[in-house]
Amino acid sequence: MSSEERMVAARLWAAYKYPYLASALFAMRFISDETVGGVAGDEYFRIYVDHEETHDWEVETLGVELVHQVGHLLRGHASRAREIGIQQAELTHWIDASDAEINDDLDADHPLPVDAASPDELGMPDSLFGEEYFYKGTPRIASSRDCGSSAHGSPRSWDKPYADDNDRGIGSEERDLIKRRVASETVAHYRSYGLIPGGWLRWANRVLEPHVDWRRELRATLRRGITEVAGAVDYSYKRPSRRGINNSKVVLPSLRSRLPEISIVLDTSASMSEELLSQALAEIEGLMSAAGIRFNFLKVFTCDSAVGKPQTVRHSSDLKLIGGGGTDLSQGIEVAARSYPLADLLIVITDGFTQWPESSPNGIRAVAVLINEDPPPTPQWLNRVEIREVATASPVT
Ligand SMILES: [Zn+2]
Repeated sequence: MSSEERMVAARLWAAYKYPYLASALFAMRFISDETVGGVAGDEYFRIYVDHEETHDWEVETLGVELVHQVGHLLRGHASRAREIGIQQAELTHWIDASDAEINDDLDADHPLPVDAASPDELGMPDSLFGEEYFYKGTPRIASSRDCGSSAHGSPRSWDKPYADDNDRGIGSEERDLIKRRVASETVAHYRSYGLIPGGWLRWANRVLEPHVDWRRELRATLRRGITEVAGAVDYSYKRPSRRGINNSKVVLPSLRSRLPEISIVLDTSASMSEELLSQALAEIEGLMSAAGIRFNFLKVFTCDSAVGKPQTVRHSSDLKLIGGGGTDLSQGIEVAARSYPLADLLIVITDGFTQWPESSPNGIRAVAVLINEDPPPTPQWLNRVEIREVATASPVT
């Protein structure tokens, strides 16, 4: 077998044994380089192979190296090393730490990559992140493995420029696509066969369901609502323009700004997490206070199948959460939207399992704050913010 044929065979072996990683394995480009001393990668999915050094390796050993490189590439070890500011002197320990993160996900029947560290060798349990192995693990005394800049981002002498004429690397957009494709193929494989190493499944879950910072999203959505309302030019006829004084026939509207009227409709029937509800209310209160709106300026309609009288309280924690029946918030929304003084902005807090008015009552601006792991769709006229616990990984095999 020629050197090239052995790499093709190694890639096929890897894709056969780890089918959920196939998209990444087949995106790799092999480059021959006699100075590498083994197998190394760069951040652009290029794998540098020293054929003289590896000519007597088994196809399986080469295949494991490719799976290992996929681990560095997809898990972003190079950018993670940059994020925590790994210094040259710490490079070897970081390589061992990131290797330990990957290697405990290899099939137990397969050999470890040549001279690569396992969690055990760093005195640590399996299933941790590279950063944990780096900070808490014991450095190995004799360690010389270098997986290449794919593992740490520090350029190696054999690395080609990204836009090399013959061996162009894979750019960040395509890398992102590959990452997402492998993540969804990993989850699909898990659903069909259930056999996915824990580390890979956790990684796929993180890629597909990144933790959305709901606080930031809620603040941004409400701030936008308040700004739009407060910034809206209010041509009021209540106070005639001075320019109209001398003209008895035409009353010109005056231009004035005022604090927006805000109402909250709170679904009290729902099986919403009380903790998340109070966190959401506290966040709303904080934002209002920052916008110069005291919480007791807001009207809060608690609502299940019937609508309660609006409450005005000094702090969100003083609210009485009355209710407990079935949910139909559309009534509460209608009442809140038409109660005087008319609200400019309506905040509806619910788990989402409710009837909604088909269109916005009075054309009011409204934000639905949905406290639910998987809330149902909401009508077009509502902005929505989803509030949920931090996504956790599915059980591992
Ligand atoms: Zn490595």
